[in-house]
Amino acid sequence: DKAAANYTPLTPITFIQRTALAHPERTAVIHGDIRRTWSETYQRCLKMASALRKLGVRKGDTVAALLPNIPEMLELHFAVPMIGAVLNAQNTRLDSKTMTFMLNHGQAKVFFTDKEYSDRSREALAGCDAKPIVVDVDDPCFDGGELIGRMTYDDLLATGDDDFSWELPDDEWQAIALNYTSGTTGNPKGVVYHHRGAHLNALSNVIGFGLPAGAVYLWTLPMFHCNGWCYPWAVTAAAGTHVCLRAPHPKPVFEAFAKHGVTHFCAAPVVLNMLINAPEEQKLPFSQTITAATGGAAPPAATIEAMESMGIKVVHLYGLTETYGPSLICEFQDGWHSLDAKQKAVKMARQGILSLSMTDMMVADPNTMEPVAQDGMSIGELFVRGNSVMKGYLNNPEETGKSFKGGWFHTGDLGVWHPDGYVEIKDRSKDIIISGGENISTLEVESTLYDHPAVMEAAVVAAPDDHWGEIPCAFITLKPNNEGLTAEDIIAHCRANLAGFKVPKKVVFSDELPKTSTGKLQKHVLRGQLMA
Ligand code: ADP
Repeated sequence: DKAAANYTPLTPITFIQRTALAHPERTAVIHGDIRRTWSETYQRCLKMASALRKLGVRKGDTVAALLPNIPEMLELHFAVPMIGAVLNAQNTRLDSKTMTFMLNHGQAKVFFTDKEYSDRSREALAGCDAKPIVVDVDDPCFDGGELIGRMTYDDLLATGDDDFSWELPDDEWQAIALNYTSGTTGNPKGVVYHHRGAHLNALSNVIGFGLPAGAVYLWTLPMFHCNGWCYPWAVTAAAGTHVCLRAPHPKPVFEAFAKHGVTHFCAAPVVLNMLINAPEEQKLPFSQTITAATGGAAPPAATIEAMESMGIKVVHLYGLTETYGPSLICEFQDGWHSLDAKQKAVKMARQGILSLSMTDMMVADPNTMEPVAQDGMSIGELFVRGNSVMKGYLNNPEETGKSFKGGWFHTGDLGVWHPDGYVEIKDRSKDIIISGGENISTLEVESTLYDHPAVMEAAVVAAPDDHWGEIPCAFITLKPNNEGLTAEDIIAHCRANLAGFKVPKKVVFSDELPKTSTGKLQKHVLRGQLMA
């Protein structure tokens, strides 16, 4: 009937169709010397969708892509779902064994790779039973490496039909993407996203981040990380321009700000710290307003403050792979404008409240599922539900069941609930320190360490202790020219700013802190160092 004809499954593919109609001549993508309009980009997506179908890719098949932030990776975010297939964007920093695991587990039919990863890709494919068809992207912005596949992206594209028309998914819960968790223990889990969640989370990003029509978005966040937190779809919905960047080093980031008039970018706090601590001569001036969305790990208040003092506005987001990236947002309150910079940054460092695509959240006792008091002090686990929570883990009913127990998604993060309804994450449950029966939030101690002007990076972990059970131990890297600084100086700074039991009992200076491929501190490695 008529009403039914108006009901169509939500999918982010409609965004590119509309943007190509509304702004055909606007620049969609910039990459080195390449510039393409929305009309050209849409046409390339349709053609690639057609080419993939001719190659034998069917509805529900997995198409894997091991690519940096380049136009082809963006195009695959539309071309693959246009034929009902599922995009598995792989983390470019993983080892070949994990890549083999993912290719087999996801049963990849096609594998797109880049010359930069040709050695690892070859190794991963050698041990792989799934035997995907290998396609190389021959990116003009990368010298070196080898072409290892059956054809290049451009060869494949040339086989597609210009007049291909894409189809809506049968059902908006149909899978659109597969993203593997980083799997610090055991094999990674394959998180499945659906068209509806991708559509809604993208729109939620447009509103939460304040992406105006024509935003110029710089790709500093990897597109493989939760599908770039859904920004391939969000920036397209806003008819913005995607500025690609193979790697987010400070120099090209500041150059892109100045050259392309970048207005928005997303980055983990570690990347913001790299920008803040970049050599002064790299910090080219810019005149436009730039807004950075940060998340993926807790941004210390000092990092937010330093970004804002560089003239870059910050939006703080919280989420997980299982929630398509952002699921909480620290909504800026009008009243915060009157706070001083430091107080404002402290408010903004909280993880916040539900983003638009979510329905419900609570901080609760994980055993009873009873919400904790909203007093900013009682610790509980964060639970969420809503449209941008994953369908489940691929072929893993046991883990899926565990993570949805009681009808809520279990984030595994511990936090407090403030009287204003904002959540503040205190720790991942496995990282919290319990010392003499008292909980110590490692994030709180780290935030205090970041307030010290000499500290570049800080990580706090539990060290075993006969008397207290656990004691906090700080690992620190220093900014240049602070050689004279001692552990006692750091401890004195903490003592002046923290309750006594939270003060690190041990400080280890180090040249570099171990991080995961998505820029998170690897606390288990540090704990291991303490045991060794
Ligand atoms: P992985 O779980 O594989 O490390 P995810 O990207 O899924 O990768 O990480 C999600 C976790 O990152 C969250 O559970 C939380 O611990 C942390 N996290 C993400 N965003 C924030 C944030 N804004 N503040 C504090 N922690 C965060």
